[in-house]
Amino acid sequence: MSNYVDCLIIGGGPAGLTAAVYLARFRRRVVLIDGGWSRAEWITLSHNLSGFPQGIAGHEYREHLGEQARLYGCTAEKGYVHTLIRTDEGGFVAEMDGRTISAQTVILATGVVENKPPVPHLADAVKRGLIRTCPICDGYESRDKRIAVLGNGPHAAAEAMFLRTYSSKLALLLVGDVVLPTSTFDRLVQAGIKVMAIGAETIEMREHGVAAFYAADGQTHNFDVVYTAFGTTSQTKLARSLGARMDEAGRLFVSEHQETSVPGFYAAGDLVRGLNQISVANGEAAIAATAVHNALPMDPAS
Ligand SMILES: Cc1cc2nc3c(=O)[nH]c(=O)nc-3n(C[C@H](O)[C@H](O)[C@H](O)COP(=O)(O)OP(=O)(O)OC[C@H]3O[C@@H](n4cnc5c(N)ncnc54)[C@H](O)[C@@H]3O)c2cc1C
Repeated sequence: MSNYVDCLIIGGGPAGLTAAVYLARFRRRVVLIDGGWSRAEWITLSHNLSGFPQGIAGHEYREHLGEQARLYGCTAEKGYVHTLIRTDEGGFVAEMDGRTISAQTVILATGVVENKPPVPHLADAVKRGLIRTCPICDGYESRDKRIAVLGNGPHAAAEAMFLRTYSSKLALLLVGDVVLPTSTFDRLVQAGIKVMAIGAETIEMREHGVAAFYAADGQTHNFDVVYTAFGTTSQTKLARSLGARMDEAGRLFVSEHQETSVPGFYAAGDLVRGLNQISVANGEAAIAATAVHNALPMDPAS
């Protein structure tokens, strides 16, 4: 394949791989470059992905998508795109380690990265389901459990309120100097949510749960699961370098066809403003890939 492609997809999570499947089936010359750590790899077993009533592990789901893309001739290549520039002709040149790729269009699907919560043995605790990050994904599986939300701002309070649908045994553990607005605090108390300011170092992983020491009452409180709410960091370095429009949190604004404010530069998945969910990533990727195909010159079958 020549080094000039119809579309370069950057990122090989659900969004990038879905875009690859679509574009490969549109018979476009497409290359997908992936840095290697999709957020989906953290998912032990997802129960809210349509079509998988028994649930599916994140890595398994990605493997299925990768296999589907390969079937139509697009193999995800391991690598990291360091820079992306727009040419005078309206195309793009991406630079990886010792290699460049020229593309007519780009779909950015680089996702977001979880801001790490200050808890011990994090990776192991996430795998064991003790530490969770996404109430929309698995709040249902936490119903009637003793739940804590650990965070450092109003976002954590909102997550605690969201989880009230699933359990009455809820606490909000705040670390750092956080002062909640009185109205927020009152709503939490009315909902029966205990608010505790704790030191992050007091969190302890146990065999079947998580413990936190609350100095104000001198007690150790035990929870079955802890949701962490420290936010995410969008992987938008490349988009920023092209001057694409984004909000204060670094989430990209896109058109109804998933095109950013830079012509020919599309985006899909978690790094776009909206809900961080696989179904959303897939849907946005389908829209972006179809828009890319329709925007490129036709290549009729002979
Ligand atoms: C613990 C956990 C549980 C979750 N559970 C669920 C669930 O049950 N249901 C659900 O719908 N969602 C769930 N999610 C959210 C889901 O994982 C994300 O919404 C989804 O992975 C987003 O897909 P994406 O393709 O946008 O980004 P990602 O999957 O994060 O993929 C982005 C990819 O881009 C690559 N990349 C970044 N920068 C570059 C670069 N410069 N060059 C090359 N590659 C690059 C990264 O290496 C990564 O592989 C969960 C998330 C977590 C953390």
